[in-house]
Amino acid sequence: MSDSRSALFKSFSKEGIVRREALLEALKERGILEDDPRMKALFKAINGGSPEISEAQFQILSDQAPGLLEQALTDGLAIPDFSTFAKELTDIFDEVNTIRMGKLPTYIPQLERVDPEKFAMSVCTVDGQRFSTGDCDDYFCVQSCSKPMTYCLALEEQGEDVVHSYVGREPSGKTFNELTLNTKGLPHNPMINAGAIMCGALIKKGGDASDRFDYVMEKWKTAAGGQKIGFNNAVYLSERQTADRNFALGYFMREKKAFPPDVELLDVLEFYFQCCSIETTTKSMAIIASTLANGGICPLTGVQVFSPGHVKNCLSLMLSCGMYDFSGEFAFTVGIPAKSGVSGAIMLAIPNVGGIAVWSPLLDELGNSVRGVEFCKRLVSRFKFHTFDSMLGLGDDRIDPRRKR
Ligand code: GLN
Repeated sequence: MSDSRSALFKSFSKEGIVRREALLEALKERGILEDDPRMKALFKAINGGSPEISEAQFQILSDQAPGLLEQALTDGLAIPDFSTFAKELTDIFDEVNTIRMGKLPTYIPQLERVDPEKFAMSVCTVDGQRFSTGDCDDYFCVQSCSKPMTYCLALEEQGEDVVHSYVGREPSGKTFNELTLNTKGLPHNPMINAGAIMCGALIKKGGDASDRFDYVMEKWKTAAGGQKIGFNNAVYLSERQTADRNFALGYFMREKKAFPPDVELLDVLEFYFQCCSIETTTKSMAIIASTLANGGICPLTGVQVFSPGHVKNCLSLMLSCGMYDFSGEFAFTVGIPAKSGVSGAIMLAIPNVGGIAVWSPLLDELGNSVRGVEFCKRLVSRFKFHTFDSMLGLGDDRIDPRRKR
């Protein structure tokens, strides 16, 4: 056995043995969960092997997940003290859980029927350490949280120059569905409805609607490390039924000749409603956010879903435009690239650290989740996660949980 593995074994063993339960517990504490695709063979070997692991067996186990087991057990992952981090997140979650303010959105009947008490939070670091609490297995529709994905997919297919010849990158200063375009007659940015409709028009243009939908669902699944991604047909139908404003935006853009040639407006609008009706859990959304935080590589599979340059574009716009009319204030106080949706979801991508997803359906008057925003504020009051917290000489006693490099 290599010296480092031998030392690792010794540090975990008692009387020459590592107990299986202790090893599983140690991995869980460090955020390595049993459904981790990188650890499939390892968990199978642990669970199928002896409850008491000898040094020789430990060597064989280590070979099932080369590097990762050692990295995890030597606190070499993105957030080394992950159990304390998870405990802090749970404390914030419990504090915020007492808030009862906000309203359910009324403009889509299906969204009004959701249980307002629901609350979930999940985190996934860029090394795939995960933790969740609350209603984290409940599915909710992603609504505007689909916009960063739609934008990234348009960028991957068309490149930055083409995409931004059809959509701007300035905050609009208006509500997400405001009937307005910029001075060039284009949508202000990809994070509001007009911009997302436009980005959708740039994905698999001219292709079959069913193929395009399959393609997008597949990309969502890949970004989520293979987790199941759902689709809520009732929300989709309800969304389409009540979409006067989105139809108006579409026709307005068509009148201004904003779309690329040969675009079928109704197809593009349908596609936009479908994207809003994609369903996920906070567990999967945190993995997607982490893929963004990790430069486009899914931490659980190593698959490069988006190129780092496109992710950089996306995070820039999430930072400046991702939280509706609260975006400037959010960038100032929280300072983390984020996107919210009217279902009460917020996804946060902390570059090179990880992704966090929060879901609580009661919204403030700007359309952001009340508990979600409060969670984000408290997060940065405890951790140095604001984009500019890296500023040298910024003396305060908040925690920086990242691995020191
Ligand atoms: N489906 C919603 C709409 O188009 C999405 C908006 C949102 O989440 N802000 O109106």
